[in-house]
Amino acid sequence: MKFTSYSPSPLRYFLAFTAAAVFYSGLGEAAAGPAVRVLISENKKLIRLTVKGGCQLRVLPSLVSVKRSGKLTGIAVISTPKGIQVGLEEFFGRGIRIEPKEDRDLYLDESRFRGSVDILKDPANSLYAVNTLDIEKYLYGVLHHEVAPWWPMEALKAQAIAARTYAFYQIQVSKTQEYDVKSSTSSQVYGGSTTERTRSKRAVDMTRGQVLSFEGKVFPAYFHATCAGVTAGAQELWKIDLAPLRGGVPCGYCRISPHTEWQSKVPLATIEEKMNKNGRSVGRVLKIEPISQTPSARVGSLRITGTGGETVMAAKDFRIWVGGNKIRSTRFTVMIQDDLAVFQGKGWGHGVGLCQWGALGQSLLGHNFEKILQFYYPGSEIVDHRLENSKSEARNPKQ
Ligand SMILES: [Zn+2]
Repeated sequence: MKFTSYSPSPLRYFLAFTAAAVFYSGLGEAAAGPAVRVLISENKKLIRLTVKGGCQLRVLPSLVSVKRSGKLTGIAVISTPKGIQVGLEEFFGRGIRIEPKEDRDLYLDESRFRGSVDILKDPANSLYAVNTLDIEKYLYGVLHHEVAPWWPMEALKAQAIAARTYAFYQIQVSKTQEYDVKSSTSSQVYGGSTTERTRSKRAVDMTRGQVLSFEGKVFPAYFHATCAGVTAGAQELWKIDLAPLRGGVPCGYCRISPHTEWQSKVPLATIEEKMNKNGRSVGRVLKIEPISQTPSARVGSLRITGTGGETVMAAKDFRIWVGGNKIRSTRFTVMIQDDLAVFQGKGWGHGVGLCQWGALGQSLLGHNFEKILQFYYPGSEIVDHRLENSKSEARNPKQ
């Protein structure tokens, strides 16, 4: 439910060495889908690592395996000028890969993970970690964060397919990056295997391999918590013009959402600080005016007037600067009272694609997941990417 923003150009680190995504075949289990690489930690001085059973350690980027003695229990991983230190041992390279022999044996700080984990140094010598695992297992760790596990199964299945489609799309477009998705709200929230829930896992299993496609291609199936009446078009936010994401879907089903209406009071000093930080200083803020509307009746642009001048900016950027949880959507009015900006708004999230509370409302009325997805992504179809792969192999037989 926290899928509130999207950054189309993920952070680039100085050396992208990771190979293109491959079908995952780790840990002795049958491959179910492509591997997804998730940024699970960044800007860390120290990462605590535990592996319950046996594991293979490899130095990155060479992938040379290293032997180490003793158990990996709560040991500190830190960066050194020439490499990376794991407990008392130093390895010379950009990082280490940890491949546990048994799935779910790996812990990083407080969280438990399936698959393998790379711990790497960034240019500032801080650490970041990338978890690589099968897409279906990844979804186990996503679904609970996006929708409550006790929601009706049809709503969970619709969410599972939207989340799988989004991840699948990201895998395809980030092959030259070091990771496909982040574990935070800027992609879809992922908490490792610590946060898996039985019903959420069942929804993933019941829809295994199924993704949304339009004209034969997987597309970024955005979703959000509550549209509060009508969905937004992707072109309003990211210049993406695709029929299933064109928005304007009238949704009365999310009236049951607790996020239908909200109010938020933000100190003007906070707004001034964010404007300064982003190079758009206007001095002391005197006035904030919506000056244009998007086709879905959200605020398009704002004029912010201060003692040092005025600036016009996109409401979607302003929302992210101030905080997606403070300004929950761009459907708002704003007035200044003393030293506060008082926002009165509707809905939560960017408003594009599937409305999660609307999906709940529809499932309570007996709509199945196909009907729900067709409603929020008009013109799309549900396909099994595993069958699509075998079809394309059949069309291009090996010489
Ligand atoms: Zn809705």
